[in-house]
Amino acid sequence: MKILITGGAGFIGSAVIRHIIETTQDDVVNLDKLTYAGNLDSLAGVVANPRYQFEREDICDGDALRRVFARHQPDAVMHLAAESHVDRSIEGPAAFVQTNIVGTYQLLEVATRYWQELPASRQAHFRFHHVSTDEVYGDLGGTDALFTEQTAYCPSSPYSATKASSDHLVRAWHRTFGLPVVVTSCSNNYGPCQFPEKLIPLMILNALEGKALPVYGKGEQIRDWLYVEDHARALYTVLTRGGNGDTYNIGGFNEKKNIEVVYTLCELLEELAPSKPGHVRYYSDLVSFVEDRPGHDLRYAIDAGKLQRELGWMPLETFYSGIRKTVTWYLQNIEWCRRIHDGSYRRERRGLGSRE
Ligand code: NAD
Repeated sequence: MKILITGGAGFIGSAVIRHIIETTQDDVVNLDKLTYAGNLDSLAGVVANPRYQFEREDICDGDALRRVFARHQPDAVMHLAAESHVDRSIEGPAAFVQTNIVGTYQLLEVATRYWQELPASRQAHFRFHHVSTDEVYGDLGGTDALFTEQTAYCPSSPYSATKASSDHLVRAWHRTFGLPVVVTSCSNNYGPCQFPEKLIPLMILNALEGKALPVYGKGEQIRDWLYVEDHARALYTVLTRGGNGDTYNIGGFNEKKNIEVVYTLCELLEELAPSKPGHVRYYSDLVSFVEDRPGHDLRYAIDAGKLQRELGWMPLETFYSGIRKTVTWYLQNIEWCRRIHDGSYRRERRGLGSRE
C-alpha cells in the first residue's frame, strides 16, 4: 500500500519511515513543512529508495493537501506532523494552535473528501491514523494510577491542549462523517535522531561539551519512556491491524524520574565517553537544578495492555538497553549533531525530492 506520512522528517516520523521502507514493501510519501524540527539528514538511508517520495508542504494549506492526495492516491495516512515541544508551547502557543489544531482540521477535511470519492473496494481499507500523546490525559500526581484508553482528558500545557483538541477532531470526523480512523497515545520517546532540545539528547550533548545539565525543579517528575523504534513498530501494527475507530495506548513499561534518567546518562557517558572536557571530573557534577516549568505535570504512566492483548505488540527494548543504544548513537553521529548546532541541516537540505 501507499502511506502518506505527515511530519516524516521529525524524530518519530523519520523512525516510522525507516521502519516501513526497511521492513515492508509499502510505498511512503513524506509530507513535511520542514520547520526547525524537520531534518532530512535523519532519512539519509532511505531517500534513494524508489518507494520513498517527499513533498515539502504545510498541513495548514488545504489546496496543497488536495494536490498531494490527488497526485499520490494514498491508501492510508499516518499523521505525525505537529509542534511538539512543551517549553516552546509556553513561550509561543500560536504555532501550536495553528499546526496541531487547524492543520489537523485541514488534513481531516481533505482526507475525508478524498476517502468519500474512493471506489468502495479501496474505501473499506482506508485508514487515517492520528498519532497523539499520553500528555492529553493530564497529571496523575502522586497516585499510582495508569492512563487507560478510557481515562478522561485533562491537558495541562498549551502543547497537550492542542493535541487533545486534534484528538477530538479526529474522533468527531469518524463519528460524524464515517472516516475510518485509529488514534494512538504514546508516552515519552527517546532514541536516535531526536532534536537536541528534548531531555535525553540535550543532556548527552551538553555533557559532552562540559555544559550544565539543567533539571527542572528537583527532577522528581515521572515519565514512561519508550524507545522510538518500538514506537514505530507499534504504529505500523495499529495502522495495519487496529480496529476502525479504536484508540490504543502505547508505552514502554518504564517509569522513571527525570533525575534518574539524567544520572543514568551520566553513568553511561562515564563508561562510553570517559575523556571529558577539561574542567569536568564527573559528568554528574554538571547537573544543575533550575526553576520548574509552569504547570509541570508530576507523573504520567500508561497502561499499554490493550495493544499487547489485542495486537500482540510488546517493546523489544528495556530502558537500559534502549538508553545505551541511544547514547552510543549520539556518540557515533556527532556529524548529525554538528549540522544541527551550526544550522547547516536547514541551509543545505540533503535528500530533497523534485517537488521542493
Ligand atoms: P518533531 O517535533 O520531532 O517532528 C515534527 C515534524 O512535523 C517535523 O518534521 C516538522 O517539520 C513537521 N511539521 C511541523 N509543523 C508542520 C506543518 N504545519 N506542516 C507539515 N509538517 C509540519 O516531533 P516528534 O517528536 O517526532 O513527534 C511526532 C508526533 O508524535 C507528534 O504528533 C507528537 O505530538 C507525537 N508524540 C511525540 C512524543 C515524543 O516523545 N516525541 C510522544 C508521544 C506522541
